[in-house]
Amino acid sequence: ETSLKLNSLLHEIQKERAVSVGYVSSKNSTFKILLQNQQEYVNKEIESVPSRYLDELNFIHALEDVRIKVSKKSINAKTTIQLYSNINESIINVIQDFSNTPQDPKIRDLFRNLGIFINVKEQMGIEKAIFTSVFSVNHFNLEQYNQTSALNFEQKILLKVFLRTTTPNLRLQYQEISRSKHFQEIQRIKEEAFFKYQDIGIDSLDWLELATMKIDSLKVFENKIIIEVGELAREKSLASYRNLILIISITGIIFLYTFLITYSIGKNIMNSYKKIKNTLNIIDDNVIVNHTDKEGIITYISNAFSKISGYSNDDLIGKPYNILRHKDMQKETFTEIWKTIKDNKTWIGEVKNKKKDGLFYWAKTTITPKYSENGEISGYMAISQDITDRKLVEKLSISDGLTDLFNRRHFDTIFPSLINNARRHNQRVCFLMFDVDYFKLYNDTYGHQKGDEVLVQIAKTLKTTIKRAGDFPFRLGGEEFGVLYQTDSESDAIYFANKLKASIKNLDILHEKSPKYQVITVSMGLICSEISQDDTADSLYKKVDDLLYQAKSAGRNKLVSI
Ligand code: GH3
Ligand code: MG
Ligand code: MG
Repeated sequence: ETSLKLNSLLHEIQKERAVSVGYVSSKNSTFKILLQNQQEYVNKEIESVPSRYLDELNFIHALEDVRIKVSKKSINAKTTIQLYSNINESIINVIQDFSNTPQDPKIRDLFRNLGIFINVKEQMGIEKAIFTSVFSVNHFNLEQYNQTSALNFEQKILLKVFLRTTTPNLRLQYQEISRSKHFQEIQRIKEEAFFKYQDIGIDSLDWLELATMKIDSLKVFENKIIIEVGELAREKSLASYRNLILIISITGIIFLYTFLITYSIGKNIMNSYKKIKNTLNIIDDNVIVNHTDKEGIITYISNAFSKISGYSNDDLIGKPYNILRHKDMQKETFTEIWKTIKDNKTWIGEVKNKKKDGLFYWAKTTITPKYSENGEISGYMAISQDITDRKLVEKLSISDGLTDLFNRRHFDTIFPSLINNARRHNQRVCFLMFDVDYFKLYNDTYGHQKGDEVLVQIAKTLKTTIKRAGDFPFRLGGEEFGVLYQTDSESDAIYFANKLKASIKNLDILHEKSPKYQVITVSMGLICSEISQDDTADSLYKKVDDLLYQAKSAGRNKLVSI
C-alpha cells in the first residue's frame, strides 16, 4: 500500500519536474498555469503518504526549497532537473528498501523487478524534462545532447533487464503498451531532435503532453506490478497466516513483558513482575470500572465496583446496566447519556446509583465508547469516582436539620439568581411565605418538643404538595416557611397556596388555646408577578413579609396576595 502511495507521489513529482523545467526555460505563460495545477496534484499525493516516510526523507523541506527557486526562476533547467531528481531518488530508495523485507524469494524478486522498472520510468522522466527545456529554446547544448543520448542508451539496457526478470504475464503487457502510437511518436521525435541538433521546431507543450501520456501509461503498468506483488504476498501469507499470528503474538507478548519488566526494575525480574501484578490488583481494587456491550449489558466489573455497589460478579455480569439505576435519577439523564455515547462521544456526569442493599451511592462517572478492530463501537466503559460523601456534605450545607427542607442559606443563594433569570426571560416569580399562627402559645401549652413535631409535619405536607422539579420548599427560620415555584398563571399560584393552607389545617393538630380554630393553622403572603427593574431579593422579601403581616391582622389562617 505504501509503495503504491509513494509511487503515485513519485509520478506526480516527475510531472512537476518537467513542467518546472518548461517554466524556467520558456517564456510561454501556459507553463505557469500548468505548474500551479501540478503542484496542487503533488500536494494532494503528499497528504496520502504516511508522514514518517516524508520526515525521514526531509521531503517537505527539499520540495519547498526547489519550488521557491523555480518560482523566482533563480535556477536554470539543469539545476531544476537535478534538485527534483535528488528528491525522486530518495523516494525510489525507500520503495526499493521495501523489496528487501519479504521473506519469500518469489515476492522479493518481483519487488526488485519493480524497482528496476521504477528506475526506467524515472529515467524517462528526466529525459522528458531535458527535452522540454531543449524544445523551449529550440536547440540542444552539448551537455544536454550527451546526457539524453546516454539516458536513451541506459534506458534500453535497463528495460531489457526488466523484461528478462519479470513474469511472463507482465512481459506481454509491457510489450503491448510499447507498441502504442505515442510510444512510436516519441521515439520518432527524439530521433529527429538528435538528428537536427538545432532549429528543431517542436513545440515544447506538445512534447510535454505526449511524454506525459507515455509516462502515465507506464504508471498504470507500474501499479499493476505493485498489485501483483501484493497479491503474491497475500497468497503466500494466507497459507502461513495462523502460524504467523501465533509467532507475532508470542514475540509481542515476550517483548512487551521483557520491556515492562526491564523498564520498571531492571534487576529482579520476578520482583518486578509481582509489582506489576500488584499494581494491577491495586487498580482493580480501587478504580471503579465497568464495561458493557453495545446494548448496555454488563460484561465486566472491577473489585472496587463490587465493593461500592455491594453486587458480586455473578449478580451483575450479563445483566442490564439499568439494574443500578436509582429512582431519584431522572429519565432524561439516561436518554442524554445514550445519545452522547452512541454518538462516539464521552459523557461525564454525576449519577446516583442503587446498591444491592437498596441504599445508594453517588458516582462521578465518565463513560466512553470502546471500539472493535474495524472501528465500530463494540461496547462502553465507565470509570467512576465515589462522590457520596461530597454529595452528603453538599446536601447538608443546604438543608435544614429539623425538617430536611432547604435552609435559609440556600434561599439566599438561589432567590437572587431566580429573580435575575426571570427578569431576563420576562417570567413570573412566585414566592410564598407562611408562618404558624399562635405558635408561641402552642409551645407554651404543649412544650417545645411537641412544637418541633408540628414543624416536621408541616414540612412533610409542604413536600407532598410540591410537584414540579423546579419548585423549592424552604424553612426560612423558626416557624416560617417559604416556597419558590413555577406556575402557568397567577390564579394557579393562588390555588396552590390555598390548597397547602387547607392541607395544613386538615392535619387537624390540636391547639386548644388557638382562639378561632383550636387547630394548627398558618397565615400566608404571596407574590406572583413579573419582575420589574427595581425589584431585588430584599425588596421582594419585604413585600411578602408585609402581605403575611396583613394576613395575620385579617384574622389568621388567611392568604393575602398581589
Ligand atoms: P403569630 O405568628 O400568629 O403572630 O404568633 P406566634 O406565637 O407564632 O408569634 P411569633 O411568630 O412571633 O412567635 C414565634 C414562636 O415560634 C417563638 C418560638 O417559641 C416558636 N419557635 C420558633 N422556632 C421554633 C422551633 O424551632 N421549634 C419550636 N418548637 N418553636 C419555635
Ligand atoms: Mg413568626
Ligand atoms: Mg407565628
